[in-house]
Amino acid sequence: MAIHDCTGLRVRAGELRRLESTWSAVAGRADPPFLLRPSSLIGRIVGRTPDVNEEHRNLIRLALARYLGQVDPREAVWRDLARRHSLLPILPDWTGFVGLREDGAVFWVSEDDGSLSPDIDEHAAHLAKIRGSELFPELAFLAPTVSPDWVQCWSCGGSGRVIIEGKAGGNIRCLCGGIGSLPPDLAARLRRMRP
Ligand SMILES: [Zn+2]
Repeated sequence: MAIHDCTGLRVRAGELRRLESTWSAVAGRADPPFLLRPSSLIGRIVGRTPDVNEEHRNLIRLALARYLGQVDPREAVWRDLARRHSLLPILPDWTGFVGLREDGAVFWVSEDDGSLSPDIDEHAAHLAKIRGSELFPELAFLAPTVSPDWVQCWSCGGSGRVIIEGKAGGNIRCLCGGIGSLPPDLAARLRRMRP
């Protein structure tokens, strides 16, 4: 029985749990995974550059320095990539991360080969702004501003919580990023991708 419609794909509860445990056991990271669509399924965008002013640039620089100063061995590979590319990981994902440059541009950094790409899935770019503002509270300016035209998330019914068999989905994040609603353009695109 498909009980959760996440990212437009029917996902079974067992699969969600497996994803969650795989993330914890194999990736060894505490950060909650988002269930993202494969990038090829949604319009690709060139790394979006949010409006950043000099104060924001300074905050991004400081956040990166703080991140690079961490010692958690589970993050060592990403720290090396972050240092090499001068990008702050603001959205951890299965095979890499979305990295924020000090001028606000975002890039996909592959953990597999360390490569850098400006092509970022629009959905991932949206979630990155949400997650980045959570991981680095000083970067609160990244968080998208919810406006009245945002569409209620159909996956969580606006609660922002993933519910699996009547219980909150723990370490799994909803496709809305936990906000409970989505910008209308993004919502329309995600809706069109539904099977
Ligand atoms: Zn939601």
